[in-house]
Amino acid sequence: MPSAPLYFDYAATTPVDDRVIETLLACLGRQANFGNPASSGHAYGQAARDAVEMARQQVAERVGATPADLVWTSGATESNNLALKGIAQGLGQPGHLITSQLEHKAVLDTVAELLRLGWSVTRLAPDADGLIQPDAVQAALRDDTRLVSLMAVNNELGTITDFAAIGERVREHGALLHVDAAQAVGKLAIDLGHQAVDLMSFSAHKVYGPKGIGALYVGPRARALMRAQIHGGGHEQGLRSGTLATHQIVGMGTAFALAGQPGDNEHQRIEQLSARLRKGLLALPDVSLNGSAEQRIPHTLNLCILAKGFNSTALASELALSTTSACNSASNAASHVLLALGLDEAQARKSVRVSIGRFTTEAEVDKAIEVFARAITSGANALW
Ligand SMILES: *Cc1c(COP(=O)(O)O)cnc(C)c1O
Repeated sequence: MPSAPLYFDYAATTPVDDRVIETLLACLGRQANFGNPASSGHAYGQAARDAVEMARQQVAERVGATPADLVWTSGATESNNLALKGIAQGLGQPGHLITSQLEHKAVLDTVAELLRLGWSVTRLAPDADGLIQPDAVQAALRDDTRLVSLMAVNNELGTITDFAAIGERVREHGALLHVDAAQAVGKLAIDLGHQAVDLMSFSAHKVYGPKGIGALYVGPRARALMRAQIHGGGHEQGLRSGTLATHQIVGMGTAFALAGQPGDNEHQRIEQLSARLRKGLLALPDVSLNGSAEQRIPHTLNLCILAKGFNSTALASELALSTTSACNSASNAASHVLLALGLDEAQARKSVRVSIGRFTTEAEVDKAIEVFARAITSGANALW
């Protein structure tokens, strides 16, 4: 069997960290912490509930939130749905909502649903760097603006939205800010106690935790308006019913406790690897970086490769990376993010996302540069 391709798709998902697996497994099996966290009458249920609440504490600590303000969900997709539909329903009357053309489909498709329910929607275009500037959000605020939804880090570009500055202005205006932070945990400082954010979506599997678990932060200003979207038993303070997935939740807690932050060793190591990768790739002919060169996380690079004959799908046997966002792959359409950035169809289709993470090594980075170099030059030779 040919060797497995090197993994350069950390933005699509991350492998579960061994330390996470350990705590997760401790909740599976007869000898383990298998009880139903809602079984309050006996020791099995109490032990499971203690584990769930400890995980809530771990997630809360990582993002500077009060544990009671976190609601477990099945992932960032559900969190985004709950945030937007839950608040829209709580408001009763449709109003105006601001989002951007760069959002994940979990926000864009949910916003489209609100549009059908009578909401008026502004989808901001990014600037030439792929950024949504606080001034652009401010200029779009209207008297009837109730809700703003923007992502902290773009999953395709790796660019950063200054959500804290945007939050100040949105709050001053009296609207609520929802931030999709699925790509931001461990990469940006998140401190909800001091940032003007009302709702924030999280996912475990982008941070070395298991798939199928996430959380929504519902801050005090959003709490009174929030309406559940999944009913049945009133779990999670009535905001999201269903038996809590103890093992997944415990895994997410550990993953968040292990998640780094800017300035720590892991972040510095990834910064160095990213700089090496970026320098190596941008030195190749007809390769350019999509999105801001500065306002970005080091983990994700998006490159437009216009070298003649270069075929991005040919890379995939040696390098696992994204030719379109994994979230769009079901459709096969050119990336809506790259089109919003101003690329044409052809440029968008010739762009690839390369993303690195905790387990990427320098040797892998060098190998990736080599594979790119070969794909670019052999493509050119084939044509001449
Ligand atoms: C991955 C991702 C999601 C979806 O998260 P799931 O937990 O897989 O549902 C939403 N938004 C962004 C920005 C993402 O990167």
